[in-house]
Amino acid sequence: MTSWPADDRRAQAPPRRRAPDAGLLRRLPPVDELLRSALLAALEPDVGRAILLESTRAEISAAREAIAQARLGGDEFEAYLRILPARIAARARKNLEPSLRRVINATGVIIHTNLGRAPLSKQAVARMAECASGYSNLEFDLDQGARGRRDDHAQNLLEKLFAREGVADAKTVVVNNNAAAVFLALSALARGGEAIVSRGELVEIGGSFRIPDIMAESGAILREVGTTNRTRIEDYEQAINDNTRLLLRVHRSNFEITGFVEQPTLAELAALGHRRGIPVMEDLGSGALTDLRAFGVAGEPGLCDSLRAGVSLVTCSGDKLLGGPQAGLIAGRADLVARTRKHPLFRALRVDKTCFAALEATFDAYLRERFEDIPLLRIFARKAEEIERRCVALAAAIPSAARDIVATRAMIGGGAAPGKSLPSFALVLEAEGGDAEALALDLRQSRVPVVSRIEDGRVWLDLRTVDEADDPQLAATLATLKHLRMRGPHDVSRS
Ligand SMILES: *Cc1c(COP(=O)(O)O)cnc(C)c1O
Repeated sequence: MTSWPADDRRAQAPPRRRAPDAGLLRRLPPVDELLRSALLAALEPDVGRAILLESTRAEISAAREAIAQARLGGDEFEAYLRILPARIAARARKNLEPSLRRVINATGVIIHTNLGRAPLSKQAVARMAECASGYSNLEFDLDQGARGRRDDHAQNLLEKLFAREGVADAKTVVVNNNAAAVFLALSALARGGEAIVSRGELVEIGGSFRIPDIMAESGAILREVGTTNRTRIEDYEQAINDNTRLLLRVHRSNFEITGFVEQPTLAELAALGHRRGIPVMEDLGSGALTDLRAFGVAGEPGLCDSLRAGVSLVTCSGDKLLGGPQAGLIAGRADLVARTRKHPLFRALRVDKTCFAALEATFDAYLRERFEDIPLLRIFARKAEEIERRCVALAAAIPSAARDIVATRAMIGGGAAPGKSLPSFALVLEAEGGDAEALALDLRQSRVPVVSRIEDGRVWLDLRTVDEADDPQLAATLATLKHLRMRGPHDVSRS
């Protein structure tokens, strides 16, 4: 293939030693004529006149520049004229490319915040489409024919789930994400008063969510107790005064403290709060709704565990271990939930109809115990042997490439289950000239971008986080990689 002017940086090879042929400028077809060409005329209804015009002008202007710099000339010019409409069409399509795109997550990080966290179930997506493509009863009571409340929607199903788990009388409210849930709850319950927090829990959760900063913004006064590694129940007790509004527990979502460590249990904290008449709030971060031990993830407390332990109010994300849409859940004592619901900030943090539709579909799967419908739980449940078998099949798509299949660990990620991982397998690729970054870029620039991870100077594709349905797409991508190292005769022994 020949490459010419324009936007392709690789095409800006050292200028050839020849004189510009200014006569070629006159041979570039007029814009009108190009727009009338069969290819572009057929494309117009699809992309629109304005985009087509803009793309044609941009291409012609790039061609003029290339001619002036003698990058385009001689025999190439005839060939360029033949593919000119196709180049304009490609520009037009590129102009319209959306910024937000589907990608294949081959990083092996299961809840990857940068890659959109939990994938939604088919049922959730179908319910979102159903409720969003027309009108819905978002804030309308169909029995009364009068205004209703949007937060009633997800509440009913969630309360049924709580009841099944032995949690009675818990109420819930939904906001945009867990950061919003924490901010709203602190604003509604502790503004102007003190919230007691252990020094071991003053955490930062990626994307600059820092507990002390959020508290300051909410108007709650941070009262630190204990030390980084040890905080006892007496530390909380001694800090309680007339101005204490909350005892706050923050889940150490993205780090672990090991060694000489002490922290009161949730039940101890709840008992203290109960005795002194002070609500206990927990920022749980990740809100599992079922016992994840069945899926190989141990030691991650769920939403109901906290409520059963007597915590007054729990907040968590909808798109971490819960496996639903981006959302923040506030669950717990009816009077406290009602205060967050009535706070003026609630209106600014509320969610839209598609979020409720997706949440309800996700809760529905939990209620029916159709765990296999929830993509996140399917990812957890994947068997390592099965992942290995898929790696072998994928490796067969690039028989002469330098590649290997290696046992690895997939991380839970996303501020959930710090340090926890599941056994997995990766297809490991070697890059031409050892340039793993270039190979990873090839993968990201494929039609469906593939996000990999680089380790030991090689590119790893962990298939635990790749849906089986994407294997053919991934195989097709592998066959197009420019920087994949091919095996030479000296590699033969490595099969
Ligand atoms: C993830 C997390 C948050 C932020 O939740 P978002 O849903 O990303 O807003 C807050 N606190 C904890 C403990 C977390 O793990």
